[in-house]
Amino acid sequence: MRTFADVKKAIASGKSVTDLLEVYLGRIADSSHLNSFLEVFEESAREQARTVDAKIANGTAGRLAGMVIGIKDNLCYKGHKVSASSKILEGFESLYTATAVQRLINEDAVIIGRLNCDEFAMGSSNENSAFGPVKNAINPEFVPGGSSGGSATAIAANLCTAALGSDTGGSIRQPASFTGTVGLKPTYGRISRYGLIAYASSFDQIGPFTNSVEDAALLLEVMAGADDFDATASTRDVERYSDESEESGLRIAVLKESYEMDGTDPEIRTCIDHTIDELKAAGNTVDFVSFPYLDYIVPTYYVLTTAEASSNLSRFDGVHYGYRSNEAKGVEDTYKKSRSEGFGAEVQRRIMAGTFVLSHGYYDAYYAKGQKVRRVLQEKTNEIFEQYDFILLPTTPTTAFKIGEVGDSIAMYLQDIFTVHANLTGNPAISLPLGQHSNGLPFGVQLIANHFEEQRLINISRQLEKKGVVHE
Ligand code: GLN
Repeated sequence: MRTFADVKKAIASGKSVTDLLEVYLGRIADSSHLNSFLEVFEESAREQARTVDAKIANGTAGRLAGMVIGIKDNLCYKGHKVSASSKILEGFESLYTATAVQRLINEDAVIIGRLNCDEFAMGSSNENSAFGPVKNAINPEFVPGGSSGGSATAIAANLCTAALGSDTGGSIRQPASFTGTVGLKPTYGRISRYGLIAYASSFDQIGPFTNSVEDAALLLEVMAGADDFDATASTRDVERYSDESEESGLRIAVLKESYEMDGTDPEIRTCIDHTIDELKAAGNTVDFVSFPYLDYIVPTYYVLTTAEASSNLSRFDGVHYGYRSNEAKGVEDTYKKSRSEGFGAEVQRRIMAGTFVLSHGYYDAYYAKGQKVRRVLQEKTNEIFEQYDFILLPTTPTTAFKIGEVGDSIAMYLQDIFTVHANLTGNPAISLPLGQHSNGLPFGVQLIANHFEEQRLINISRQLEKKGVVHE
C-alpha cells in the first residue's frame, strides 16, 4: 500500500477504510524506533475511518476516501496537540484546524497523527527536535533530512499514504531526496498558510510527501486555492492537477554552477546526465545556463528568515502559550526563563541572529540589503523563465549523512544550497526520487517551474516517472 492507487484497489477488493487504518496503525507501532510519529490520533482516526466507510457504502464519499495522512507537527488540527517539536508549546492544543488539513478532511481523508520535525521547522536533519531525532527508514543510522523528517520517513516506511510537510528553505524537498520520496513545494501563496505555525512568513509553504507524482497532484488540487483566513493565499484558479496531459518540446535549463559545484557527489551528477539524455531523447531542449549567484543564496536566506522568525516567535513568551518556567519571578523573569528553557539551541541562535539583523544600526546593512539581494535573485530567475520552461538541478549535493555527523551550523545551513533558491523566489519546485547511490541511499532531482505553473511541473514529473528515470 504505497500509493493511493494501491489503497483504492484494496477498497475495491472489499477492504474497509477501518481495515486499512489498522494496517497503518500496526506498522506505526512496529516502527517506533524511527521516531517519526510524535502522536498517533487513534481515536479520532478510527472515528473518521468509520464515517468514511459509511459514506463509501452509501455512495457519498469524497475524493480522498481511504487516504490516510500524517501531518507535520507544525500544522493545527482542532482539539489535537501541536508542538512544532518544541518544549515551549508543551501541552498546547489547537483551537482551530489549518485550512490545508481541513480541505483534506472535507474530501474524507483520515488524519492519523502528527509527525516529528525540527523545532519550529528549523533544521536540515531532524536532529533539532525536542523529542529526539527521526531516523532514515532506509538505514536508521542516517538522518532523514529536515525539517519535515518525520513526514519523509513516514512515507518512505509506508506508515501512511501521504504526509504533509512545510517548506521554508527546502524542508519538503531535501528530506524527500534523502528518503526516496516525492516532495512538492507549491508556489508561494498557492496553499493557504492558515493554521501553519509560522517560521518565516514570506517563505513558508505547505506541501505533500507521497510515493507517486499522481498522489502529490491530487493533494495539491484539494489543498490549493484562495482562503479568507490568509491574505497571501492566491485567488488564482486551481487547475486540475490530477488530469494527465503530455507536453513535448519543453525547454529545460540546467543550472551550471550547481551541477559543477565541488561538493556535488559525482554519482548524483552522473544520474543528472542520464536524466538530461532522457529528456533530450524525448524531444525536449536541455541547456546549461549560468546562474552565478549560488554563493549569495544561503546567506540571503538566513538573514531574511531569521529576521522573520525573531518576529514570529516573539509570541512564545511563557504567558500566551504552553510552557512556563517554574523558577521565574516577575514578568521579565518569566519571559527570559521560559524562553531560555523552552526553546532549543538552534531556535535561540536564530532568534538572536534575526533580532540582530533587524536592530537599529544594522537593519540597512543586513535586512534591507538582504531584501535587495532577494529582488535581484527573483529578477535573474524570471529572466531564465523567459527562455525556459523549467530549471533542473540536484535536490541535494549528497545523500543523507549519519546522525551526529554534521556538527557545525554553517555546514548544516549549506545542506540547503540547492533548495532555498525556490523559496527566495517563490517558485514551485518538486523533488523526485532519481536513483540509488552505491552507498545504498536514495537521492532526488529537483525541477523548478515558473510561478503558478504547477500543472506543467506535475506533467513533466509524471513523464520522468513513467520513463522510469525516477523511481516510484
Ligand atoms: N533547513 C532550512 C532551515 O533550517 C529549511 C527549513 C525549512 O524549509 N523549514 O531553515
